[in-house]
Amino acid sequence: MELEYKPKYVFEAVDDKEADEIYRFCEQYKTFLNYSVTERRCIKKGVEMAKERGFKPFDEMKTLKSGDKVYAINRAKNLILAVIGKQPIENGVNILGSHIDSPRLDLKPMPLYDDSKIAYLKTHYYGGIKKYQWTTIPMALYGKVVTKSGEVDIEIDGEDYAFVISDLLPHLASEQMKKTMTEGVSGEQLNLIAGSRTNNEEESIKENILKLLNEKYGIVEEDFISSEFEAVPAMKTRDIGFDRSMVGGYGQDDRVCAYACMQAIFDCDPEPEMTAICVWADKEEIGSMGNTGMQSKYTENTIAEMIELQSGSYNDLKLRRCISNSYCISSDVAAAFDPSFASVFEKGNAAFLGRGVVIEKYVGARGKSGSNDSSAELIGKMRHVLNENEIVWQFGELGKVDGGGGGTISQYVANLNCNVIDSGVALLSMHAPFEVASKGDIYMAYKGYKAFLNKFVK
Ligand code: MN
Ligand code: MN
Repeated sequence: MELEYKPKYVFEAVDDKEADEIYRFCEQYKTFLNYSVTERRCIKKGVEMAKERGFKPFDEMKTLKSGDKVYAINRAKNLILAVIGKQPIENGVNILGSHIDSPRLDLKPMPLYDDSKIAYLKTHYYGGIKKYQWTTIPMALYGKVVTKSGEVDIEIDGEDYAFVISDLLPHLASEQMKKTMTEGVSGEQLNLIAGSRTNNEEESIKENILKLLNEKYGIVEEDFISSEFEAVPAMKTRDIGFDRSMVGGYGQDDRVCAYACMQAIFDCDPEPEMTAICVWADKEEIGSMGNTGMQSKYTENTIAEMIELQSGSYNDLKLRRCISNSYCISSDVAAAFDPSFASVFEKGNAAFLGRGVVIEKYVGARGKSGSNDSSAELIGKMRHVLNENEIVWQFGELGKVDGGGGGTISQYVANLNCNVIDSGVALLSMHAPFEVASKGDIYMAYKGYKAFLNKFVK
């Protein structure tokens, strides 16, 4: 009997064949991540992949029977995939919930201006960022513009040409360098350089940019007011390290978990015992608000619709019973122990890169404030399923007590009286323009989520 707990490392625990499978899985993940740099693009790619695997639009279903695969889209930014199980939906479902929004710079409603013959786009940051990290890196720009006559999608991927935020040269930065890192670069200094050419003395640089935008996209300045532009790092994903054991890329919080959840529902039992549901939520980084965020009724509404379609009748009690009997993995990234910044972690309870998928009993801040503190019973159930299915996993907490804090979607799902546990992939440099994850952890998240969908039975 093993008395002492000894953590495992993924690449020490798997054989050569599985190690190859891990690298293969992550190649496909990298392709997904390169494309899916905004919520809208995530949904587009996710739906395309679901359709290829036989998922049908839910609103076109006439009946719902065991083995049916459906998808439902909420306002282009929130997706539900479901594989209908053998048991009636009102007995409970197994939910994998992740989020597909990531920290970024949104354009302000009236973004374009010029100063000293440089054209700029003013931004308003979205989510928790360290502002100085977003200067002097190439940025891409993705927008949906509602014009007088229709909609225009503007997608500038930053390969051919890009945008950039300037920072001060060290030679003149003596005052700036005395400031704290919060103040060194301010929100109003996060202005994207967007042009510098005028063609004659009368024309302003702003006029020239507006002319170019009108020629290319048919938009006028007022159209910016009814647009959503997201500036994101124009950096393709890359393998990290001589051993290529990690993935570096933008937006891995939380698209790494979203991808693992999606692949898990694609590969779960064709007729699982309980209905399997994968939810991709928006707006987690700003508090899960809004009608596409996890605090919206969309997931409940969709389950209610499913109950009605399957059983021919609906009452609110059926939905309440279903959710009370349901299980949910709140699938979000965890902070990986960083040896270069060891002081903020408590080594005995931190998550480590390469030790497999992370289970977190709680997140939150201070005295677990804002946390869905999962029960011992639920963690026990999860632990046994992971162990029985030979999945390399670890536990973790966000950092030292009173070191800071953070939240996930778990509290909002748990408040519906659902059984919710936090579990995800550990990241280095979370919320930075370029985040790092271990390939072994990504694969073990996928495997763990698949086991959850197949084995969690009422
Ligand atoms: Mn997250
Ligand atoms: Mn986050």
